[in-house]
Amino acid sequence: MTQLDQLLDKAKAHALAYRQAEKTLTHDYHAMRTRIMAPTPETGADAGAVIDELVRLTEGGLQTTIGPRFYGWVMGASEPAGLAADWLVSAWGQNAGYQNTAPAMAAIEQAAEAWLLDILDLPRDSAIGFTTGATIANATCLAAARSRVLLDAGWDPDADGLFGAPPVHVLVGADAHASVFAALQLIGFGRKRAILVDADKTQGRMLPEALEAAIAPLSGPKLVIAQAGQINTGDFDPFTEIAAIAKAHGAWLHVDGAFGLWARATPSLKHLTAGIESFDSWATDGHKWLQTPYDSGFAIVRDKEALLHAMTNWASYLPTVQQGDRVPSNYVPELSRRARGVPVWALLKTYGRDGVAKLVERHCTLTRRFAERLSHEPGIRILNDVVLNQIALDFGADSEATKAVIARVQHDGVLYAGGAEWRGNWIMRLSIISAPTTEADIDMSADAIIAAWRAVQAASPKA
Ligand SMILES: *Cc1c(COP(=O)(O)O)cnc(C)c1O
Repeated sequence: MTQLDQLLDKAKAHALAYRQAEKTLTHDYHAMRTRIMAPTPETGADAGAVIDELVRLTEGGLQTTIGPRFYGWVMGASEPAGLAADWLVSAWGQNAGYQNTAPAMAAIEQAAEAWLLDILDLPRDSAIGFTTGATIANATCLAAARSRVLLDAGWDPDADGLFGAPPVHVLVGADAHASVFAALQLIGFGRKRAILVDADKTQGRMLPEALEAAIAPLSGPKLVIAQAGQINTGDFDPFTEIAAIAKAHGAWLHVDGAFGLWARATPSLKHLTAGIESFDSWATDGHKWLQTPYDSGFAIVRDKEALLHAMTNWASYLPTVQQGDRVPSNYVPELSRRARGVPVWALLKTYGRDGVAKLVERHCTLTRRFAERLSHEPGIRILNDVVLNQIALDFGADSEATKAVIARVQHDGVLYAGGAEWRGNWIMRLSIISAPTTEADIDMSADAIIAAWRAVQAASPKA
């Protein structure tokens, strides 16, 4: 056996042992830091021993994200086809920035691009940048928007920067995801400068009349950012109305659809995204509903020229490009890059169009079941209309009670649920998006939440 043989066998054995074991998180970050931080290795070590040590050191400190009862954040489960393809990506060691230097990777990514546009039913001549996630996908889309709206106003932001540029008005729904503001911060538009457009109280959907009122007085370049899949409620902005308003005012229309855009891949849920096809750009994730390994996101832009204008990296030593060639690095911020299209390609081919549709639909059915079971327990309030895969609930108006239930649930370890502040109170959030989750997992999890809530009530002095 060669050394590589032994190392890969070792990694495979460790990986399988982990995947097959019951997953529990027993060590927090501070415990891990204490265990792992060590002096700089002055001399080398045997690679096999290093891999064994890596596994030993991290034991107990791995979050249960690939397990069937992780609902804490919107995270997929790194499914087998994507995982295996991702191993090959590392083994091949390709720099997927250029089509000439990594021909197979560039072609696979191009195929995945076409399949994604087809499955998400977006304009087929749109371009997709394969990014690290939806945050960078948002930033990439917004950079394309910045190029287009400023070029149209007679200013080239990519050549000349933003100092002295005409101001771009940015309008964002008040319940947008934090990463949209991070993206605005990154591209020089500022996170506080954005105009927040009111959203409705229960679901966090942008109110079209508020958008009209906010945009009407503005002149000059404009950008409207909508949302498909609010992080707490899972709901969708009214895209058709928003599009009519934004277009009447000449704005670029972007949507953050990190997980919600996948409703479009499912015939029974597609109506939730009606009107979104008329947008200019769409950001979504691979590592959420598509279950790719981390990290994977998609910046989808209808105006390919604008995207290339914003992202193209120029240097004389880089390979020349023939007319019509797709240069992967010109669609994303990076030059050297991982072949992120490969696990995407493998998962799309493994699931197929109907497999993706069924996966998304199944999660939404499971989510309704979860909410329904919880709603029968006195004191538990389901706060959102469950339209997708998100449940926002609390245990009465006292945030401390909700925090206590979350702490107890996390400690009991049957499932993982997190919390958030929503409408002035603390809530429990549940995101049902992992491929391995079954009905039995949902029932077991609902029972565990109810048991934790009863225990919290029994322990409270009033009870
Ligand atoms: C997860 C998420 C993001 C950020 O995506 P990353 O992949 O974590 O960068 C943005 N918007 C929404 C609605 C999300 O759920």
